[in-house]
Amino acid sequence: MDLHSEKLLKKYREDRDGMRNCPELAGLCLICGSIHIVPHKDDHRKLVCRNCGFAFYRYVCPACNSTVDGRDSRNRACPECGIRICSCGACGCPATPSHERSCS
Ligand SMILES: [Zn+2]
Ligand SMILES: [Zn+2]
Ligand SMILES: [Zn+2]
Repeated sequence: MDLHSEKLLKKYREDRDGMRNCPELAGLCLICGSIHIVPHKDDHRKLVCRNCGFAFYRYVCPACNSTVDGRDSRNRACPECGIRICSCGACGCPATPSHERSCS
């Protein structure tokens, strides 16, 4: 691991706010520091670390185009479906109409 990555890991392990705005963290595992991050095979909103198996949400919010990162303390889980959602509050879950209402 290079020094820059180590600094990022140290910073965001202490304070997880702001991870979503750091593009490098899309390819860096906060748990083990691996850069072997690949798309999750079952969920296109998720990435998974090939080294330790940790999976996390990382996708672009369909409502405002901000990046959502499930490891970021500002990206909370949707109370209905559990998906980590954008700080704007939009939920992009494929849901029934009643679910969509309760999410918005
Ligand atoms: Zn890992
Ligand atoms: Zn948003
Ligand atoms: Zn939802």
